[in-house]
Amino acid sequence: MSQSHHYTWPRLPNVKHRVACHFCDTLHEVHLIEEGRSAHCLECRSVLYRNRPSSLQRAVAYGITALSLFTLVLHFPFISMNSQGNLSSVSVPGAVVVLWQEGGQLIAASLALFVMILPLSLLICLLYLCIPLLFGRILPGSRSIMCTFQGLQAWIMVEVFFLGAIVSLLKLVKLADVQLGIAFWASAGLMICIAGAVSGIDRTELWDRIELADAQRKESL
Ligand SMILES: [Zn+2]
Repeated sequence: MSQSHHYTWPRLPNVKHRVACHFCDTLHEVHLIEEGRSAHCLECRSVLYRNRPSSLQRAVAYGITALSLFTLVLHFPFISMNSQGNLSSVSVPGAVVVLWQEGGQLIAASLALFVMILPLSLLICLLYLCIPLLFGRILPGSRSIMCTFQGLQAWIMVEVFFLGAIVSLLKLVKLADVQLGIAFWASAGLMICIAGAVSGIDRTELWDRIELADAQRKESL
């Protein structure tokens, strides 16, 4: 990985970029800034853009951790209950199956979609983009994957599910002896890691890095 990647954002070589201040609308020309520094508006001093330190590494690290937590969420019980001697445990995929069988198809489908399929797709898109970018490269279809990634961000509701689960658990505790399973703690970690992975890297920065890697790929052909 060449050092120049760290010091050349936000930028496309030989292209002039302008950025408007979010607060006072003053137009500024975009200059390169070192990693860890931010550019401020000359009029109102608010932040125009940041070059976040190790943004790609951070996004990849959070992304891989989130994927590992995901496997825990899928394989281990979310809660275990002991109700009048009946021991039962429920996993997230198990809950989807039970809900479906008991006539709650809409809830089952939303649970599968918002808690499993969409977050998993988001993480795969992020890693598909960021891992090759660590080496200044992109894989085929990166632009459409980036669009999908941006679209998916609005539909990530792991935290809504988690809060909902906590509320239901508080009710359950009165009826049965409830124990929190590995998947419960894993989804708490998953929530944090998805937020970390998504907020670790600026969208504009990601776009810029994709463009730069693509330009370099074309040059080398
Ligand atoms: Zn301003």
